[in-house]
Amino acid sequence: MSGPLLQLLRRKIEAEGPIRLDEWWQTCLYHPGHGYYATRVPLGADFITSPEISQVFGELIGLSLVQAWLDQGSPAPATLAEIGPGKGTLMADAWRALGVAPGAREALAPLALVEVSASMRSFQTNRLRGLPVRWYDTLEHAPAAGPLFLVANELLDALPIRQLVHLSGLWFERKVGISGSGHLGLMLDPRPSALGPALPACPDGSIHEISPAREIMARSIAERLVAAGGAALLIDYGDVYQGATGDTVQAVRGHKKIHDPFDLPGEVDLTSRVDFGPVVAAFRAAGCEVAGPVPQGEYLRALGIEPRTEALARNLDEAAAADLWSRSQRLVDPARMGRLFKVLGVAAPGRPLPPGFPAPDTSVPEGAAP
Ligand code: SAH
Repeated sequence: MSGPLLQLLRRKIEAEGPIRLDEWWQTCLYHPGHGYYATRVPLGADFITSPEISQVFGELIGLSLVQAWLDQGSPAPATLAEIGPGKGTLMADAWRALGVAPGAREALAPLALVEVSASMRSFQTNRLRGLPVRWYDTLEHAPAAGPLFLVANELLDALPIRQLVHLSGLWFERKVGISGSGHLGLMLDPRPSALGPALPACPDGSIHEISPAREIMARSIAERLVAAGGAALLIDYGDVYQGATGDTVQAVRGHKKIHDPFDLPGEVDLTSRVDFGPVVAAFRAAGCEVAGPVPQGEYLRALGIEPRTEALARNLDEAAAADLWSRSQRLVDPARMGRLFKVLGVAAPGRPLPPGFPAPDTSVPEGAAP
């Protein structure tokens, strides 16, 4: 096994010593010629996502964002955007749902798709043929056309992370190096990390993950919301972690977990559980309104996944209706995707949040000063 990325990374490590996990990750997933996302359309082959499970997912996201657009005064022009659109399915389903609000499609077009992968873009081009779509490399590249209404599903989990280990009161960074047997793998940087003081208190031996790339992504969305208004929905597997996150890296190929992905750069999907804490903090620091993260099951129920499934099932034969129900169940069942996946709602400062989140608790606790 000696793929081009393995050779490239090996040469770099031989020349410079162990590299940071986020650099290794960035190369594996996003190297322009040989990265995992540059060379394939992995959805379906390696993993499956909510919009690919049921059309109801994208429809409800579309309804939630169009309601946010209505609640913010039906601005025109405005921009409907998605970062990391995968096969384009969520946007196709959301676009259909926008039809319920007169004027929404006209106001929100052209749709802005932010996609780094050329192979994904060409798939999206076919899937979304006939829709008013434009592609951009980053959100910064998309022209600012009024308030932004944005969704990103399973984007943050793909962004690079760093890992640190807590030992005898100090933090040490895990880097990718070459072991005695000649294989690539994780090893500890012997120098204590300067990040230590910013990391959570936790027992010796704990592993903690941070993702500067996720915070940069949150800040770039926040900047747009602050400047122009709008709202965003970020959906991913993860939670707000108290203390250390542990090692949550997941490498997958052909729907199977790969235990040692280091000698397979560019050939396996890499994700990790999203720690929403720093993401929420980045939005709050910019002054944005934030709701959640709430479990995906609760969010989809609040938006009416059951009546929507019921309405669609009425027009189907018994087997197709049962299949549709089982797909909706998979999205909301706490034992499947309903609890592990979370939805974070964000709005521009002082603007209403998209629907689907519990109302903020404004009750005054007993005994509190009025
Ligand atoms: N949202 C889709 C696809 C999830 S897979 C779905 O739910 O089905 C991750 C997607 O994000 C892919 O399309 C990948 O090419 C894209 N992507 C990953 N990192 C990105 C980045 N930094 N900017 C834009 N797109 C990115």
